Amino acid sequence: MKTATITREAYSTFVEQVSSQKVLHATLKPYRIEYRLKPELGAKRFYTVKPAGNTDDIPAMLQEHQVEFSTPSDDSGTAAGLVGALLGAGALLGAAAWFTREGAGGMGSAMGGVTAGKTKARTYNPAASKAKTRITFADVAGVDEAKQELKEVVDFLQDGDKYRKIGAKMPKGVLLVGPPGTGKTLLAKAVAGEANVPFLSMAASEFVELYVGVGASRVRDLFNKAKRQAPCIVFIDELDAIGKSRGANPHGANDEREQTLNQLLTEMDGFDGNQGVILIAATNRPEILDPALKRAGRFDRQVLVDRPDKSGRLEILKVHSSSVQMGKDVNLKAIAAQTSGFAGADLANLINEAALLAARNNREAVMMTDVKEAIERVIAGLEKRSRILSPTERKTVAYHEVGHAIVGSLMPGGSQVSKISIVPRGRGALGYTMQTPEDDRFLLLEDELRGQLATLLGGRSAEEVVFGKVSSGASDDIQKATDLAERAVTQYGMSPDLGPIAFEKTQSQFLENGSTRRSMGGEVAAEIDRLVKQSIHHAHEMAIAVLKLNHELLDSMAQKLLADDVLEGEQLKDMLAKAQAPVNAQIWLATGQMV
Ligand code: ADP
Ligand code: MG
Ligand code: ZN
Repeated sequence: MKTATITREAYSTFVEQVSSQKVLHATLKPYRIEYRLKPELGAKRFYTVKPAGNTDDIPAMLQEHQVEFSTPSDDSGTAAGLVGALLGAGALLGAAAWFTREGAGGMGSAMGGVTAGKTKARTYNPAASKAKTRITFADVAGVDEAKQELKEVVDFLQDGDKYRKIGAKMPKGVLLVGPPGTGKTLLAKAVAGEANVPFLSMAASEFVELYVGVGASRVRDLFNKAKRQAPCIVFIDELDAIGKSRGANPHGANDEREQTLNQLLTEMDGFDGNQGVILIAATNRPEILDPALKRAGRFDRQVLVDRPDKSGRLEILKVHSSSVQMGKDVNLKAIAAQTSGFAGADLANLINEAALLAARNNREAVMMTDVKEAIERVIAGLEKRSRILSPTERKTVAYHEVGHAIVGSLMPGGSQVSKISIVPRGRGALGYTMQTPEDDRFLLLEDELRGQLATLLGGRSAEEVVFGKVSSGASDDIQKATDLAERAVTQYGMSPDLGPIAFEKTQSQFLENGSTRRSMGGEVAAEIDRLVKQSIHHAHEMAIAVLKLNHELLDSMAQKLLADDVLEGEQLKDMLAKAQAPVNAQIWLATGQMV
């Protein structure tokens, strides 16, 4: 950036230099004034910022002293408009503050009724922030397709004329869809950063508070503010909080939310996209959004922001480790391979955890062992050795985890059981079995899918085989197994009876009209249920058969685990190598039938 290399001068100095005819040229940018001294003074370049509240008429002052001046883009119209922008900017600009929280009217002021409708939008102005802190596409990794789609928006904000001249209409609204932590907020900020325009953001839940009517007036206020600052980005996070389908509330309509939503729709229809206000919203639940929001002229662009694959994770790790001292033995590729399923936020968290561990160990750089420990922490929540399980609980957890491991070790699919632990970590994770795939899998073969089902049910099956009863600890496994079995039938077409018909719509079809299942007859639905039940049932039987056959191994491994808290490495490998598969396992894996 060329502007990054020029130095800042006090505003008073600038005024003095103008008055004493030292300035050759000035460029009036919305948030700062850049200027060059005369050649005889070395043509040095500076910039300055007008203090908040100062009302000097800069163009008049420059004219009076015969200083040439220009404005970087003329599309904002008249010089008067520009001065307006300059003055407006003054209020936004604390000396270096580029985050302003406005009208933070809480309960008290809401009672007064006057300020209640003021938006609480946060404004982030990349143009006023230092080049270093500005967020750009370089800060967002592993989501190349989403970036590609958003580049057009950036281009429009930077060079709207190009589009206006040709008569192209820009989308008014872009909806970012994806799970939490994948970088939706970050992407929206990066669009503002790349285009160098203000970023007004607000969470949809902040629109709606206690008082009826407040939400609608906040929406109005937000849009008014945006129009004044155009070109700019308005970002609405968690859009589903107000955008829920109006028919989706079984307990009667929620008036406040509905009014807010209606106001949002009205505002979106009311502004001309070519004014340069672009609305970006984020949600992780597109299916519950009101269809009216997705109509043409509203959020008619949807951009999927998914969890990154292995190479994406590597890119994200590079971004986040660039500001951390990394030791020579740290292999980012290996870390990327071990973090399947992590979202960007988890990876950022991982790097930070590793850095904290390294510092705690008085190292000067992060070592691979720090990263390994950090991975475990992030996977299963923070280590909580202090939490004491009762002896019965511990024993149950140990058998449960060894059950997963033994069944898993016999199933196809190329992932290895690399660690079993019963150190309680955080909420809800009493123990875990870590399977590390060699690679990200995009294709599951039929037999691998069955193997996964059995592995998921291995924990609960071990409890049954050993204790004759089950604990509540298997609910997550059962949920996952059921999902997987259902997908096999309804999406992957793996049922020989129903054939390769997709009963479940794909994600993009589902984004279009919210319903996930294709319409089907009652018989077909019943058949799907039967097949799902059957494949779960068979997988469960297989897991039980495996564990009965390997009962001794199950006992000895569980005892060892109870003694050591963890099983890993060669020791674990050697133990699992003793596991034997039941005679009918191969046939079941191949056909799904138990014989
Ligand atoms: P979302 O809005 O999708 O829930 P955020 O944008 O708030 O996710 O992400 C939280 C943090 O996680 C970001 O500030 C960033 O540090 C990190 N992060 C998330 N996704 C990415 C990504 N794709 N590339 C780099 N960092 C990311
Ligand atoms: Mg977010
Ligand atoms: Zn389990």
